[in-house]
Amino acid sequence: MRIGSISQGKNKCDGCGATIRYAERYLIVKEKGGVENENGVIRHYCVRCAAEKKYVQTRTEKGERIVTFFKEIEKPVITKSEEELSEEKEARERSLKKSVNAEDEGGRTGKNE
Ligand SMILES: [Zn+2]
Repeated sequence: MRIGSISQGKNKCDGCGATIRYAERYLIVKEKGGVENENGVIRHYCVRCAAEKKYVQTRTEKGERIVTFFKEIEKPVITKSEEELSEEKEARERSLKKSVNAEDEGGRTGKNE
């Protein structure tokens, strides 16, 4: 769990110990033994400490540097894997061949009769 919040000027950073200034962004994260852990204790970090602890991601978008506390949200995988696709293709080809063969045989038996 990571929550980005705006300081009311009351919270102290658990990293550097400084008071997080009013209106400054800070991070709320649960940690155990210094690493992110859902069963840990709630810690507050100023942006600088959050960055030091690698909780901050920066990326450049349209020439602007964007700082985010959150992990990139991974898009749900909607495309099928290569393996699945090739399996499907094979199955399709197999059924196609089968139906062609069936027609051939049917045609032949038709002639013979
Ligand atoms: Zn700090």
